[in-house]
Amino acid sequence: LHPGTSLVHALRRAVADTPDRTFLAYFDGRLTYREADELSDSVAGHLAARGLARGDRVAVILQNSPHFVLAVLGAWKAGGVVVPVNPMYKAGEVGHVLRDAEAAALICSDRAWAAYLRETAAGSPVRIALTACELDFQTRGDTRVLAFERQPAPDAEDLTAVARAGHPAPADRDPAAGDTALISYTSGTSGTPKGATNTHRNIMYNAERQRTGLGLPEAPVYFALAPLFHITGLVCEFGACLNSGGTLVLAYRFEAGVVLDAFAEHRPHYTVGPSTAFMALAAHPGVTRDHFASFTVLSSGGAPLPPALVEKFRAGLGPYIRNGYGLTECTAPCASVPPHLEAPVDPGSGTLAVGVPGPETVVRVLDDLGEEVPFGEQGEIVVSGPQVVPGYWRRPDATAETFPGGELRTGDIGFMDERGWLYVVDRKKDMINASGFKVWPREVEDVLYTHPAVREAAVVGVPDGYRGETVKAYISLRPGAEADPETLAAYCGERLAAYKYPRQVEILPELPKTASGKILRRELRSRND
Ligand code: ATP
Repeated sequence: LHPGTSLVHALRRAVADTPDRTFLAYFDGRLTYREADELSDSVAGHLAARGLARGDRVAVILQNSPHFVLAVLGAWKAGGVVVPVNPMYKAGEVGHVLRDAEAAALICSDRAWAAYLRETAAGSPVRIALTACELDFQTRGDTRVLAFERQPAPDAEDLTAVARAGHPAPADRDPAAGDTALISYTSGTSGTPKGATNTHRNIMYNAERQRTGLGLPEAPVYFALAPLFHITGLVCEFGACLNSGGTLVLAYRFEAGVVLDAFAEHRPHYTVGPSTAFMALAAHPGVTRDHFASFTVLSSGGAPLPPALVEKFRAGLGPYIRNGYGLTECTAPCASVPPHLEAPVDPGSGTLAVGVPGPETVVRVLDDLGEEVPFGEQGEIVVSGPQVVPGYWRRPDATAETFPGGELRTGDIGFMDERGWLYVVDRKKDMINASGFKVWPREVEDVLYTHPAVREAAVVGVPDGYRGETVKAYISLRPGAEADPETLAAYCGERLAAYKYPRQVEILPELPKTASGKILRRELRSRND
């Protein structure tokens, strides 16, 4: 694999080869490669003229829109480091990121600016502000998703106007492969977010893997199901698409009905999302097999994929959902299911394999003493390879702890079988200790997902005077389905050892999730403190 230097160079290649091909499709709007290149040049020229220097941080807080792509490419062309921030973050969380990353520029929606970011930015190092109305670049609008008003900001500049101003990009700012491209803050499912420093080389390696390793047709159509502000969306959707000279379909944010309409209209070949997104699509009343007929690859990544969902999907809707395993710290995937294979289920534990490590990637499974364990035995998953970041932004202690000798200690417990398939059992810190017995929430969740009424399941340990901790399941039900907590507990009791089955089951309308769609076990746990 010979990854190119950066996505800026990939854009130049695509402009030279296919200038008039659609790069971005956003509702009924389209931008060609040439247009995206010119518009992002202008953003870069403007940022440089406003004083952005090489290596300065540019925080981008936007949904899946052309503005996100133009902001990122513009920042890179100006020599900047992009800090993608989740638009669902509250003022305090954004403030932490802006200060921690010492962001010089902020690019966000005009609504968020008016609502709270103007105030947040005022107390931060930000000195350049661009705001975007995400209604631009499409004409029809989709009232289910884009039901908002333009809110011009007198004290910030309009991103679309800046992009259309025709400023030339600054000379001599092209990123080098080893430069930091992103500071990606981990999604915080396990505590305060830390910034992983993904280099252009890290991104290009995985973008190139996605181009060559999935069996996609030439110039594929990608649908951005995962948010672009999360590393999975940024690398496997935006990065892979640009590196392949394909078309990227954007639909603002996840809304099952809108996503299915976009599948019907754009006939995508590839998408990736968390398993919760596939659950929501499968539960939508309007879903049909035809919605998925165009896909070559449907990937699930960033969160556990219950085997029951893969089977339900294949039986009901046709496609096979491919698992993939990755972390922010390894720039999205480090193991995936090759296109000609299907992931096996471990007969002992019922766990679905996450994939096999990619080329040049070494995955080891270590015990508590740091020794490699034999095939089939559980331990901590440790990864090294060209996608592993050099460390965390300005956190030498956390870097030394998580990346000893340059290897990434994932904090995930897993095992490898003798054929080289990797299995993720659970996160080390999510283990439940019930009367001294180890219970892995994933195993219990996988059983719950085989129950026809269950839409989403999350299992946590809650304090228990007798056992120390006991197992509690939170459930949301499929639309129209009925089940009471006792029935669900008994269902698990018939299938799991006595210490594993949930003694408590609570049904909620919806489980709390991060904006990237992962179920927040931490939040559910804290309800019992
Ligand atoms: P934080 O580090 O702040 O808790 P986060 O871990 O959610 O945030 P990410 O880097 O997005 O941030 O998530 C990586 C984690 O997601 C992995 O460590 C693993 O626990 C989980 N994960 C990713 N892919 C899979 C998969 N295919 N199966 C099971 N778990 C997965």
